[in-house]
Amino acid sequence: MIADLIVVGIGELLTPYLQPPVKGASMADIVRIQKAFVAVKNGKIIDFGSGDPSRYRGPETLWYDAQGKIMVPGFVDGHTHLVFAGSREREFSQKVAGVPYLEILQSGGGIHATVEATRKAGKVELTAAALRSLDRFVEFGVTTLEAKSGYGLDIETEVKTLEVMAELQGLHPVEIVPTFMGAHAIPKEYHSDRGGYMAKLMEAMKIVKARNLAVFADVFCEEGVFTPEETVGLLEAAREIGLIPKIHADEIVPLGGAGIAVTVEAASADHLMAIRKEDIPRLAESSVIANLLPGTSFFLNHAYADARALIDQGVAVGVASDYNPGSSPSENFQLILQLAAGKLRMKPEEVLTAATLNPAFQLGLSERIGSIGLGKQADFVLLDAPNWEYVLYHYGVSHTDAVFKNGVQVVANGHRIGGISS
Ligand SMILES: [Zn+2]
Repeated sequence: MIADLIVVGIGELLTPYLQPPVKGASMADIVRIQKAFVAVKNGKIIDFGSGDPSRYRGPETLWYDAQGKIMVPGFVDGHTHLVFAGSREREFSQKVAGVPYLEILQSGGGIHATVEATRKAGKVELTAAALRSLDRFVEFGVTTLEAKSGYGLDIETEVKTLEVMAELQGLHPVEIVPTFMGAHAIPKEYHSDRGGYMAKLMEAMKIVKARNLAVFADVFCEEGVFTPEETVGLLEAAREIGLIPKIHADEIVPLGGAGIAVTVEAASADHLMAIRKEDIPRLAESSVIANLLPGTSFFLNHAYADARALIDQGVAVGVASDYNPGSSPSENFQLILQLAAGKLRMKPEEVLTAATLNPAFQLGLSERIGSIGLGKQADFVLLDAPNWEYVLYHYGVSHTDAVFKNGVQVVANGHRIGGISS
């Protein structure tokens, strides 16, 4: 078979390879191949390994010399709030002074400020802002990401946000997996009518499913937001409608969100800084991915999730950016991975699995993406570093040299080819 693309001269190729969800100690079990090549045809990997790939070379084959750079699978960011309007740097001084997030929220700041801006924004404005973010994400090596609505909190704006995500698919190489998150907060106009908003959410989920605008439905289960009972009700309804549950769980107050994730068979339980100890073994027995978001802890000066306890007790862990305008306004996915190593005390190999194959599984895409394997989509990143450990050690910067999506190069010399910010 003749390849369209052959990447040669890879200093080291690293990839997870086990059947996901990859749990506990197995997360550190990855393949490392020195002096490697990858051969690609029609956007899929037809061979990889060490040795001479000349047998795949034809007159039309693009022969790409990686010049000793290291290769990993394209990163999969399993938790972002990609589409929103405005920014919240004015709250920064309050945050720095130590005003708790829930207090800023109750005073009409926080998410309510973004909701107001997003309701007012047109699709062109939302699309332009998201494209700029996607350019940054891909420059940090992210080739697929999950994106949540949840800055509309009314049917019209939630649908508008999800429509923007669908349109972005035709405009940008980064693949987006959409999540409906109308249950991100109770909007101001429903503060004295929670039941009314719950009914609206049920109606919205049906519309979203009927129009095929989302794969998942997510609920922010937290004190002052949605109660455990409301969360279970919404996620059970979501499953019945055909949306897969996800949950913002145990971020600030231990309400038992991780246990709810197991009960409703959620794809993921996210945050988990305040997880109840007794829920850890339940997570370990389930297929729920524990999605840890260290950028949020970093930015809010909060405690970090206890990744070691989760991994050591056999849970399948993922790491994600939680990119959003309030608690983690950064697309620097490599910083997130550096925090996972330094603050969550994850081993370098565990970080790789948590950034690729486990989030791909969580998004239902691990047959196609999340590792470098035969028949898999040719999504990979070349990092200009002597080894993977160095990528996690030399922090705060991007090590990306090149990114390939579906076998097509979309980043060169660390910059997005043809992007709006290049
Ligand atoms: Zn979030």
